[in-house]
Amino acid sequence: MNAANEEIVLLKDGLRVDGRKPEELRPIEMKVGVLKRADGSAYVAYGETKVIAAVYGPRELHPRHLQNPEKAVVRCRYDMVPFSVKQRKRPGPDRRSIEISKVTKEALEPAIFLENFPKAAIDIFVEIIQADASTRVAGITAASLALADAGIPMRDLVAAVTTGKIDNTVVLDISGPEDQYGVADMPVAMMPRLERITLLQMDGKLSISEFKQALELAKEGIKKIYEKQKEALRRRCEIDDTP
Ligand code: ADP
Repeated sequence: MNAANEEIVLLKDGLRVDGRKPEELRPIEMKVGVLKRADGSAYVAYGETKVIAAVYGPRELHPRHLQNPEKAVVRCRYDMVPFSVKQRKRPGPDRRSIEISKVTKEALEPAIFLENFPKAAIDIFVEIIQADASTRVAGITAASLALADAGIPMRDLVAAVTTGKIDNTVVLDISGPEDQYGVADMPVAMMPRLERITLLQMDGKLSISEFKQALELAKEGIKKIYEKQKEALRRRCEIDDTP
């Protein structure tokens, strides 16, 4: 129920508000190497959620007392630009963006060979240019591509998606109205080849069997997103190969 107490129909005849089936992703776009100044960059869209990620480094970390002699330090900033939502978002960090910056960093770190770069910093910037839910997972997918584009050695890419429950149905890739009026949402990030989950959060309530179903659906979605990531990286290499 929304504030006006009208009933919002999120599923009609088995289809969602945007016409998708429960297990369907939104149209996904990916492009690697979109910024000239960054060492690595990527653009990712999950439907109307649009993100740019930029990576700088590995580079010497200043101030030096923050350096780790054993491995690189990852710093991550997630941010939504003021025009990313209908009502202008106040610029600058808030509790939500600080939390998402932290979980994004933690979702990506296990994939990076940090020990190859002692005393260095790897800086990851995620800018949400248009938000229609699932921004943290689109940001993680984009940041992982930007890390690969920067040539940073990784164990695997990280791909991410949100599953959740609307009405009585578990669905893949939550959009804006589903996030707002749905029962639960569950962002998941994973290194698909290694089958290692690096982020799992939940907002709302799921039964154990719904949770298992949501996790399986997330894994299937992540596999599809992973294939698109690899395609986007291949396209980037083809462009680089042209004389
Ligand atoms: P995620 O974007 O990862 O799903 P949340 O669940 O916190 O993270 O946010 C869900 C959605 O709510 C966002 O994707 C965005 O569409 C909307 N939203 C978040 N913050 C704001 C804001 N300050 N103003 C308007 N909409 C917002």
